[in-house]
Amino acid sequence: MVAVDAAKHPAPTDGLAAEAIHVENLHKKFGQLHVLKGVSLSARDGEVVAIIGGSGSGKSTLLRCINCLENPTSGIIRVNGEEIRLKPNGFGDSIPADRRQIERIRSRLGMVFQSFNLWSHMTLLENVIEVPVHVLGIKRMDAIAEAERLLARVGLAEKRDVYPAYLSGGQQQRAAIARALAVQPRVMLFDEPTSALDPELVGEVLKVIGDLAREGRTMVLVTHEMKFAREVATHVIYLFNGQVEEEGPPEQIFGAPKSERLKQFIRSIG
Ligand code: ADP
Ligand code: MG
Repeated sequence: MVAVDAAKHPAPTDGLAAEAIHVENLHKKFGQLHVLKGVSLSARDGEVVAIIGGSGSGKSTLLRCINCLENPTSGIIRVNGEEIRLKPNGFGDSIPADRRQIERIRSRLGMVFQSFNLWSHMTLLENVIEVPVHVLGIKRMDAIAEAERLLARVGLAEKRDVYPAYLSGGQQQRAAIARALAVQPRVMLFDEPTSALDPELVGEVLKVIGDLAREGRTMVLVTHEMKFAREVATHVIYLFNGQVEEEGPPEQIFGAPKSERLKQFIRSIG
């Protein structure tokens, strides 16, 4: 059996904010390759959870499972209290039990990838309004007004009619953030949003993400920018070889790590 059908996620009774993302004992195999080995994670409303770890440790796979881009082999994932329903695919893995549920869950998440992947045949404004107009059914005029506001937020108001190819990587990534925000996501997921950028462009993108974090936006952020993670994260998870090796508040993870592997990782990257 893959994931059991969810009992409705209970409202928090502990005085804490509601859980926006809940991952429990997640396993993911690609054939013989066991990539995630029982990962658990929780992001409450307003939290910024940073995921750090070496290349190949399973960070992207974890985010992709949350966003339903990969199907977990087993385990539980809830977005806004709604459990992703899976059914066995007959090959020891799983597939979504309900396509419409996947669409609904995706619409609550804003995903920003390492490569900016804007639609190259569309202007920035068209990129930002595409999903609101064509998927969410928002009136074009309203979507345009919102897109202009979002592009202004990320410092690109005057580039609204420009095609991505004419922009720097930093500008493209800021536009990708505006596009992700346009669906009014409950949670933003970032997968190494600055690692494909020239060093001089990293700061402008981190500034936009940092502003969102300081506004209290819920996010799960995979990053190699340790200084930034220390600054904005409320909780840090160190993944090693598909398992949570150590987790805690940033002061602990970066200031007083316990695990030898984590100490070594921080030294190697810092
Ligand atoms: P990270 O983001 O931490 O660098 P990934 O989650 O991308 O790690 O990858 C973890 C492991 O899973 C790697 O060994 C990678 O080669 C493997 N992997 C990722 N995606 C696939 C896939 N679609 N098919 C087979 N192996 C994959
Ligand atoms: Mg990755």
